[in-house]
Amino acid sequence: MLVLVVNAGSSSLKYQLVDTESAVVWAAGLVERIGEDESVVTHRTRIRSGESAEMQRDVRVAPIPDHAAAFHAVTEAFARTGEVAEVGELVGVGHRVVQGADQFSEPTIVTPEVIDVIRDLIPLAPLHNPAAVAGLESAMAEHPEVPHVAVFDTAFHATMPAAAYTYAIDQAVAREHRIRRYGFHGTSHKYVTAKAAEVLGKPVDQVDLVTLHLGNGASACAVRGGRSVETSMGLTPLEGLVMGTRSGDIDPALFFHLITTAGMTADEVDAMLNKRSGLLGLCGQNDLREVHALAAEGDADAELALSVYVHRIRKYLGAYLAVLGRADAIVFTAGVGENDPEIRRRVVARLEMIGVAIDAERNAETRGPAAPVDLSFRSAPIRVLVVPTNEELEISRQTVDAIRALS
Ligand code: ADP
Repeated sequence: MLVLVVNAGSSSLKYQLVDTESAVVWAAGLVERIGEDESVVTHRTRIRSGESAEMQRDVRVAPIPDHAAAFHAVTEAFARTGEVAEVGELVGVGHRVVQGADQFSEPTIVTPEVIDVIRDLIPLAPLHNPAAVAGLESAMAEHPEVPHVAVFDTAFHATMPAAAYTYAIDQAVAREHRIRRYGFHGTSHKYVTAKAAEVLGKPVDQVDLVTLHLGNGASACAVRGGRSVETSMGLTPLEGLVMGTRSGDIDPALFFHLITTAGMTADEVDAMLNKRSGLLGLCGQNDLREVHALAAEGDADAELALSVYVHRIRKYLGAYLAVLGRADAIVFTAGVGENDPEIRRRVVARLEMIGVAIDAERNAETRGPAAPVDLSFRSAPIRVLVVPTNEELEISRQTVDAIRALS
């Protein structure tokens, strides 16, 4: 069962050809700089020779004006390497769509009407949904022979109660403009929730967790009975934790203050909060590896950046434990969560009184594990897990489920 998983950005297109049963990625690639003269298609395939498998790389540079041309270039790359025909049958295409708002809470078979609804949601996700629409239309033109399924980043959080998703603002305005908290990274929070349940040996509908997706973007999620009941991102992916370049929580009055006293425009403040804040704004680096390197040299800004980053996560962790009332585990995932023992150590330090205690050595050794790792001492009531996320595999499985439900 092969699924082509597609993630369309404004000037890029990422894809993977996934076998949903074995979880083998047969091919993966990236089209970059769509719309420029020197677009780059990087296509990697997995070549089987006996028991071993290796990735082979094929890079082409050519002008690719739009997403339709990008999909065509991907088809050509597949034709050159021929792996679809060799390894199985393409059963569908799964699309990552960032904003499904209150319209989509399940993976959805894409029809022209569904595309219209995703287009209607563009005001809520002006950076993301236009690319999703372009990606859907182009992919459906390129692969009309199979069903296409939209998998929404917001869907897992559709189970949040009104108390968690409602902003305390004028509700007439909120209703008119669909202003509420939606949450993102849902595919990842859902995937690691199921994995954590496996590790804990409990049915997924009986696990209570705080999941921490710490990548370039970052969000926390409180999971009760396997369902999201609260998450740190809101109307947009700006709210919540400190991220690579995004501020996360601020006093919203800061926005008006900058406009009235610093003479900045709304667009300038928006760009500052989304692109030049977070770790980058604090110390000039958005990659935590660089931030650690600076801090090791005694750079005070980098040390402060780490403190602010960790403090915010701890604040959410405490809040979410209170929201849940109990928890089986705290789950670390994504680039930082899977690879950075120092951040993990600081996030769960001095929480023994609430039942969190990790093995320092096991934590230090755990960097980019292929499978989940339990860092806690045997006696600790709340486990601390590192669970590698796999959003593409999750999207491929949801795609197959949606196609099966159709037939
Ligand atoms: P994205 O949100 O772009 O999918 P990832 O989940 O891949 O991001 O996370 C990327 C981030 O993970 C990098 O910006 C970096 O800060 C962090 N990261 C990756 N590897 C390491 C590492 N070995 N140690 C610390 N941080 C890492």
